Amino acid sequence: MRALTYQGKRDVRVETVPDPRIQDPTDVIVKITSTGVCGSDLHLYEVLGPYLDPGDILGHEPMGVVEEVGAEVTALAPGDRVVIPFNVSCGHCFMCDQGLHSQCETTQVHAYGTGAALFGYTKLYGQVPGGQAEYLRVPFGNTLPVKVPHGPPDDRFVYLSDVLPTAWQAVEYADIPPGGSVTVLGLGPIGAMAARIALHRGAGLVVGVDRVPERLDRVSSYGATCLDQRRHGKDLGDAVRDLTDGRGTDAVIDAVGMEAHGAPVAKAAHTAVGLLPDAVGRRLMETAGIDRLAALHTAIDVVRRGGTISVVGVYGGSADPMPMLTMFDKQIQLRMGQANVKRWVDDLLPLLGDDDPLGVDTFATHRMPLEEGPRAYETFQKKADGMIKTLLVP
Ligand code: NAD
Ligand code: ZN
Ligand code: ZN
Repeated sequence: MRALTYQGKRDVRVETVPDPRIQDPTDVIVKITSTGVCGSDLHLYEVLGPYLDPGDILGHEPMGVVEEVGAEVTALAPGDRVVIPFNVSCGHCFMCDQGLHSQCETTQVHAYGTGAALFGYTKLYGQVPGGQAEYLRVPFGNTLPVKVPHGPPDDRFVYLSDVLPTAWQAVEYADIPPGGSVTVLGLGPIGAMAARIALHRGAGLVVGVDRVPERLDRVSSYGATCLDQRRHGKDLGDAVRDLTDGRGTDAVIDAVGMEAHGAPVAKAAHTAVGLLPDAVGRRLMETAGIDRLAALHTAIDVVRRGGTISVVGVYGGSADPMPMLTMFDKQIQLRMGQANVKRWVDDLLPLLGDDDPLGVDTFATHRMPLEEGPRAYETFQKKADGMIKTLLVP
């Protein structure tokens, strides 16, 4: 089959690789019809090279049609239409029973201190081949795939794999009071959908922040108040406080995560900065161009006292300096983590009808053949060509 593989930093290629086969009696093989490209793929493309091997098959946002089922699969049959959640979760361990599918104990990966295995996230998360491919082997065929009806376009359901549950959890964790306010930092697919869900669920004010004009425009069109981060720079906190009686928003969703603008940061520099008082450490980071935590620092600045920060963007590294004094003094609540995809499916399915309240049918800005995957990565990484969300079609 054809599959998109990692080859090196900013180098992915579509290659011919062996077809996946049933290995366990509860496996299913899915023929992929649409598969998303995600900001999380860009971390692999850009900064996580040391954790990848050439040939790793990427992708964790697939849907398709069941091609073959293992001997013990009773919940699905060939021809069923399914979406595959990005966490490889069993559905019946202690953690899955708590709705913490990202911590599934059956597939938990300990090598790097990480949680449940993920599709297409290399040896960092269990070395499970990904779904930017013609076919995918899916474990836990009786509990993991989400069966969806035939008929509507793939766009209607494909985001159940990641974007929808991730944005939904971001809003849940943000704990916005009824009619309250939230700032969403980063308006890529995740931030845009989080803004849309927050408005749908009754937030009174959604402030969207990004630096890409088309992304700001899209989220403005949902009814959010958008601020261009390039224009406001260090005054962004004041701009948000101006909108909220001087307090800051009740909640902040950080949908940026680590953005490496420039070279990866030396661990020693991070450790050194971590030993300094908040203000000095921050100044040093700015002077050194170390802005890997830029969004999180902004979140800490713009959240009101006693408010909640919901971190949905992915961060890595153990020596990241945190302004503990400010966080303690403002009594900030901080929640974060990978989405527990299966947990939110029942909340989301009723919103995927023909009235399309979350705008999923028109969410993709680009649809490209799998063979053009490398161009999709390059364009998405550069935020060029108005690209916000791309579906690859094998
Ligand atoms: P994306 O790269 O398209 O979006 C990031 C956006 O942040 C971009 O539009 C960028 O212009 C903007 N940005 C960069 N620095 C900023 C700053 N300092 N302030 C405001 N905006 C800034 O990616 P995406 O697909 O939307 O994903 C967003 C994040 O969510 C990524 O880190 C991704 O890995 C993560 N993610 C997490 C989960 C999860 O389960 N927690 C799931 C999917 C994605
Ligand atoms: Zn994703
Ligand atoms: Zn489990």
